[in-house]
Amino acid sequence: MGATTQLIHSIPVDPLTGAISVPIYQTSTFVQEAPGVNKGYDYARTGNPTRAILENLIAQLEDGHTGAAFGSGLAAIDAVLKLLQAGDEIIAVDDIYGGAFRLFEQVYRKFGIDIKYVDTTNTENVLNALTPKTRLIWIETPTNPTLKITDIAAVAKIARDHRCLLAVDNTFASPALQKPLSLGADLVIHSGTKYLGGHSDLIAGLVVTKDKELGEKIKFLQNAGGAILSPFDSWLLIRGIETLHLRVRQHGASARAIAAFLEQHPAVDKVFYPGLPTHPGHDIAARQSKGFGGIVSFTLKENTADAAGDFVTSTSLFKLAESLGGIKSLVSHPATMTHKTIPAEKRRAAGVADSLIRLSAGLEDTEDLIEDLRQALDRIHAQSRVRGTGATENITRAASPSVRTSQPEGRTAQPVGKAVVTA
Ligand SMILES: *Cc1c(COP(=O)(O)O)cnc(C)c1O
Repeated sequence: MGATTQLIHSIPVDPLTGAISVPIYQTSTFVQEAPGVNKGYDYARTGNPTRAILENLIAQLEDGHTGAAFGSGLAAIDAVLKLLQAGDEIIAVDDIYGGAFRLFEQVYRKFGIDIKYVDTTNTENVLNALTPKTRLIWIETPTNPTLKITDIAAVAKIARDHRCLLAVDNTFASPALQKPLSLGADLVIHSGTKYLGGHSDLIAGLVVTKDKELGEKIKFLQNAGGAILSPFDSWLLIRGIETLHLRVRQHGASARAIAAFLEQHPAVDKVFYPGLPTHPGHDIAARQSKGFGGIVSFTLKENTADAAGDFVTSTSLFKLAESLGGIKSLVSHPATMTHKTIPAEKRRAAGVADSLIRLSAGLEDTEDLIEDLRQALDRIHAQSRVRGTGATENITRAASPSVRTSQPEGRTAQPVGKAVVTA
């Protein structure tokens, strides 16, 4: 049976009424026949039937044993970190998601957990960073925004040999493309906000474990901390996941066409997309994933924040916003948005050039997306030729809409000391 058929039919028809859509159990508690005698549920923080269907669904999708749904991707990450204790060490991918970096550095470090950041694209770096105190290795692949690829199976072997856990934030790939548990990881984490939800209409997080006991620990922490996903958002997330494979296929097809288009446009310098044979992680990505995803990043020949600012305010279908993985295409400019608080030199050293632009291909018709990018790039190209002839800076500035520099909720407090912060 195909993955999509299996997915769609693993969501049960309601046994009580035959409802084909999952019922939303909007309740806080469940009546008991006698103390401790119930129908499997007692209090809705601990367990809710709508959430339980979602949790089983994601466990199955990720080839795992136990799933747990949280109120956000960061709440899911937070639960995983609570598996650790003071004195433990984490080895984390150096261009880790910015919110995870903030949580590691500004919350868990003060509880005595040490974190080392290494470039995990070279697994030697992971080996070299290991100590007897290492308990957890944390990777993302592809990373954000330069889409670096780490060999999941190779890092899983290192983790196994050293008896530490491997956690993979699988948000960018989604289980439609990549199943880290099958490659040897112990935990998969998702921001359900992105591809799983898929419609830019909710915030959610998920953890899946391969191992039953580890799953019980996560469920314990989910109940103990209480950062659960609501019944309605669980329902929305189920509804999103039902079309995951279909959506990811189209996101990927558009992203591939966009990457090819960008590569030949005269205003574009570098294109970052794991599907391009020139991408340094291409072979590993091709081996461990079924596709290369819907995110494409690129830099402009005119490598300035001004030029990028012109670009991101010149598209009409690509909306200027944080986040990714929704039906509407999004564009962002990391240097003035997610990575704004990082000193320019550190940001550049991390591969986030002044003109780096990140695209999340939505579900619009591919040709329309390319046309939108073409007109914005042609505009930049014409302007940069004006700049190139020595025309006054004032003219181009006057023609440039100002770059938006506002930070989204929760992303303003990133420490500036670290080499790499992404969001
Ligand atoms: C968005 C994101 C998160 C955080 O998820 P929220 O749902 O926003 O809390 C974590 N990891 C990655 C890779 C993300 O893109």
